[in-house]
Amino acid sequence: MNTDCIFCKIIAREIPSFGVRETEHTYAFLDINPVHPGHTLVVPKQHATDIFDIEPGSWSEVLEEVRALAPSVQKATGADGLNIIMNNRRSAGQLVDHVHIHIIPRFENDGLHGFPQHPYQDGEAEKMLDAITKTLA
Ligand code: 5GP
Ligand code: ZN
Repeated sequence: MNTDCIFCKIIAREIPSFGVRETEHTYAFLDINPVHPGHTLVVPKQHATDIFDIEPGSWSEVLEEVRALAPSVQKATGADGLNIIMNNRRSAGQLVDHVHIHIIPRFENDGLHGFPQHPYQDGEAEKMLDAITKTLA
């Protein structure tokens, strides 16, 4: 447990939350400030800051719990769809430095729009692919 971490305190029940489900390695609870009601966060019990920090086994547990909970969140909220989102580091919108995946109910015409996207320019995709695959070696 990281004593400065708000989600570690939630897992330890030092801070109250609306718990959806607890498993051996994960905890799922309602986001205090939902995009839509039913917006759920799934976290590993073992503290890790972000995707760059989490251990593979812990990550697998979290992902499997997200998959297992998704139909329940969808049915309970009557959502037309779900966004499964994770923010990593401040530039990407991460505010709480304990790994968490958002399960966000979405509705047709709810007025929320995704990221603006732009096609690659000539040669740009090849260069990018080269840069990424080099780091995989
Ligand atoms: P992030 O921006 O880091 O991906 O998301 C953090 C999320 O945690 C936000 O959606 C925010 O509403 C939620 N949150 C922050 N503090 C608390 C809290 O004390 N309790 C609960 N249930 N959610 C919190
Ligand atoms: Zn923590």
